[in-house]
Amino acid sequence: GNKNINAKLVLLGDVGAGKSSLVLRFVKGQFIEFQESTIGAAFFSQTLAVNDATVKFEIWDTAGQERYHSLAPMYYRGAAAAIIVYDITNQASFERAKKWVQELQAQGNPNMVMALAGNKADLPDTRKVAAEEAQAYAQENGLFFMETSAKTAANVNDVFYEIAKRLPRV
Ligand code: GDP
Ligand code: MG
Repeated sequence: GNKNINAKLVLLGDVGAGKSSLVLRFVKGQFIEFQESTIGAAFFSQTLAVNDATVKFEIWDTAGQERYHSLAPMYYRGAAAAIIVYDITNQASFERAKKWVQELQAQGNPNMVMALAGNKADLPDTRKVAAEEAQAYAQENGLFFMETSAKTAANVNDVFYEIAKRLPRV
């Protein structure tokens, strides 16, 4: 039968990687060129139908600034899923993403579905992080990987859809 699943999802990653833009694209189908920085965290909800279930995502879009780091556990604790976002044109953001993965592996829910999103895939000319490198990292660490663009919408719904498919059916 069809199941209703509520899933807390958290977005983590460096400032400017495009977390808020991915959420805005997924929830409202919009993109803003000068997206304002998130203060603390912002909450959104969106429902997605997959074959056998209706998943209601309760989405926490975190700020990413180091000064808000101590708040992060409030958002990832009890989360069923996380999207760790980096910017493919920014090597430091990829390093920061790996730090988040380590933190989640150490402190998060062990059954958490984790996605690594290499965002800004619409900017291949200024790419600094090879897709193959990120893919290999994701595979070694039990995440699934996609390159996304909040700007063009490429793979944005797909990340959420893939998470919805992987969530445990209770
Ligand atoms: P956050 O700090 O991780 O929430 O990042 P934002 O969503 O605020 O995005 C930071 C900046 O990158 C903004 O100016 C966005 O318009 C821009 N941005 C976000 N996603 C993309 C994308 O996929 N492609 C491009 N070209 N720019 C993006
Ligand atoms: Mg933001």
